[in-house]
Amino acid sequence: MTLGPPDKRLLVLDDDADVSFTICTIAKGAGHDARATTSADEFLHLVADWAPSHLIVDLAMPEVDGVEILKRLADIAFDGVVIVASGLGNRVLEAAGRAAAENGLNVSGVLGKPFTPNRLRELLSDKTHQPPLKAPENRPQEFQVTRQTLTAGLAEQQIGVYYQPKVSCATEKCIGFEALARWHHPDIGIILPDRFIPLAEDTGLIGELTRQVFGQALRWFAESFRGTNTTIALNMSVRVIADAGLSEWLMTQCQELGLDPHQIVLEITESSSMENPIMMLEFLTQFRIKGFSLSIDDFGVGYSSLIQLARLPFSEMKIDKMFIISAPQSEESQKIAAAIVGLARALGLLVTAEGVEDQWTLSFLAEIGCDSAQGYFIARPMSPDDTLSWLANPPVIDGGC
Ligand code: C2E
Ligand code: CA
Ligand code: CA
Repeated sequence: MTLGPPDKRLLVLDDDADVSFTICTIAKGAGHDARATTSADEFLHLVADWAPSHLIVDLAMPEVDGVEILKRLADIAFDGVVIVASGLGNRVLEAAGRAAAENGLNVSGVLGKPFTPNRLRELLSDKTHQPPLKAPENRPQEFQVTRQTLTAGLAEQQIGVYYQPKVSCATEKCIGFEALARWHHPDIGIILPDRFIPLAEDTGLIGELTRQVFGQALRWFAESFRGTNTTIALNMSVRVIADAGLSEWLMTQCQELGLDPHQIVLEITESSSMENPIMMLEFLTQFRIKGFSLSIDDFGVGYSSLIQLARLPFSEMKIDKMFIISAPQSEESQKIAAAIVGLARALGLLVTAEGVEDQWTLSFLAEIGCDSAQGYFIARPMSPDDTLSWLANPPVIDGGC
């Protein structure tokens, strides 16, 4: 079998031969080698033998279950771009696209029928070609993150901090940073926090980890931003909120470094471990009285709820990146983001959106009145030195802190 250019081979699964023909014609015009089939078996064989870089899968076919096909693709860890198509309503399409993405498929978008040639070209172009959701660094590696290895990593001071800038949506200028933990392992490189924070929380290491991360972040921040309006956001596990020693230590750090607690935002992700809401209310209120800002992280998913918002003394909410990353393709996500901004306004809270991956989203957030934004479009999390270089010469955003 002859193979076209490895990065541009499109395979279409659709029961309507006319639609497939149109898709293939447009794709060929856009420089793709393109093939189509109406049979699920042939489709799966071609995925294995022809190694397409892009797939278009129709969801509603009389003889084939498109959702089942997406599951099969996830099972074989297909790592090309997947486009989900159908004449079903947008909500169904978006739900299927999300389910496929959550299974680890690299879904570049959904193609509602009828579609315009431009929409198809856009989905096939590199512009929407995102890296797979399961980035290589998140894939299981031979190295095991265990209580022992993490204890050793903490003893060796291997946990470092990266910083992601936060900009004002109205001015697009940098107004602060979020500190994100990174484990610099001498043998395997950088390990992302999702692999070790939950373990630290379950094994009682989170207190020590929090002190190491906060300590580094505050020293770095004080050096350049003492006495300014710039803020630093620190992720605080609910497991350490009731640690009175930590809160005392945090106050002492601020005094020693000459930092005003108003410059510090504590981002709290709720979890099922918020077993004792009354005690939580007391501790959170104490932080607010001392002048720290409190942000409810990942709002809209998981355990964050309206009840917690109303009862606890938060000053900011952070819209979960799930709604923001998908906003350009999903009207539903746009409506949810706008509703959360409205809610924040009504409650007198500031609102930040994370997961801004393009200019359209940043402009959209400004339009709906969101205060600030974070995301790969503005900057990825960076090492302390790279963050300062970025600030001195921000590549996308004008101005600086
Ligand atoms: P989070 O607080 O929701 O942090 C935002 C995550 O989204 C970061 O992942 C960041 O790299 C990623 N992100 C930012 N912009 C974009 C974007 O435009 N697109 C996409 N796809 N992702 C984006 P990271 O650094 O891997 O952190 C994961 C989670 O680990 C954090 O989620 C936070 O819950 C936790 N975490 C990180 N550092 C600490 C820490 O020091 N203490 C505690 N307790 N948790 C931490
Ligand atoms: Ca956070
Ligand atoms: Ca978040």
